[in-house]
Amino acid sequence: MIFRQLFDHTSSTYTYLLASGIGREALLIDPVLEQTDLYIRTLEELDLKLVKAVDTHCHADHVTALGELRDRTRCITVMGRKTDVDLVSMRVDDGDRIEIENIGLDVLYTPGHTDDSYCFLMDGALFTGDTLLIRGTGRTDFQNGDPHSAYESIFGKLLNLPDETLVYPAHDYKGETVSTIGEEKAYNPRLQVSSADEYAEIMNGLNLPDPKMMDEAVPANLSIGYHPDDPELQAHTIESDEALRRFEAEDALFIDLREAGERTKNGVIPGSLHASYGSLEDAVRPGGLLAALVAQSRTPPLLYCAYGERSALALKVLKDAGIGAAVHLAGGVEAWRKAGGPLVSPED
Ligand code: FE
Repeated sequence: MIFRQLFDHTSSTYTYLLASGIGREALLIDPVLEQTDLYIRTLEELDLKLVKAVDTHCHADHVTALGELRDRTRCITVMGRKTDVDLVSMRVDDGDRIEIENIGLDVLYTPGHTDDSYCFLMDGALFTGDTLLIRGTGRTDFQNGDPHSAYESIFGKLLNLPDETLVYPAHDYKGETVSTIGEEKAYNPRLQVSSADEYAEIMNGLNLPDPKMMDEAVPANLSIGYHPDDPELQAHTIESDEALRRFEAEDALFIDLREAGERTKNGVIPGSLHASYGSLEDAVRPGGLLAALVAQSRTPPLLYCAYGERSALALKVLKDAGIGAAVHLAGGVEAWRKAGGPLVSPED
């Protein structure tokens, strides 16, 4: 198991690098833009393939590296469903699992610090973002923060985990690196309250200054999406009405790039093939399953995913494999559904 706790001094942010071993798939939690070179170097030195970059919430004190990492490594960007961030490749809900090779993170929706705050639990280690800090808790006075929902998230969810659960926060300003649920229950001064109202009184009385980078960081973090100005990409992008026309005319080979869990939850375009974004490079190699199907098909491949980000990136993978005629669906299944396109269960 590879577990690295990396630090950004300017914002006192912890970023976590997880992988099951050297040469395996890797995941980053809460990466900071200015540290991107460090992440890339570490990934290269440990021969890791970054497949997912995850933010616990929309940060106000630093600019996220999600967009930069996606552009440099083609990784999948992941955030919670409730986020206002313009575009991430994958959105997760409470109860979902974020998976990479041999590692799974259980998703807990924990609003309060912001309304898009999530925690991630992996085998007795809890990545708390700013929901629960070491001997502290995330402020609740901006970005739709709310002390009553923070109380519910902390007392109703996090503190119900076993006492020995390790707590890895997104920040620490005093140099502490890890705690446990049991220690925080006993010694976190903010948690020594007997009601949500009492907690709210503490939080509402903090009168903290705005974070130094807030005016820059929040707008930057809200627009990390893939904005293709490349005319070639535009020429290979189709809107849902055109995709629907091709669907009805049976004039496209629809290929779904999402993961199994997303397909079950949100449904699939009838008759489409499945090749997850992560497996695409292998599938389109000469001799790969998808390479053979595309070669036999009389219609061009039409790639789709959840929101149109993975499919846009996948066009390059197909082009590198010599499949230059592929197009992708702008806005993904989300746009397809809004346009009235049919969706069925993947088993049908
Ligand atoms: Fe925060």
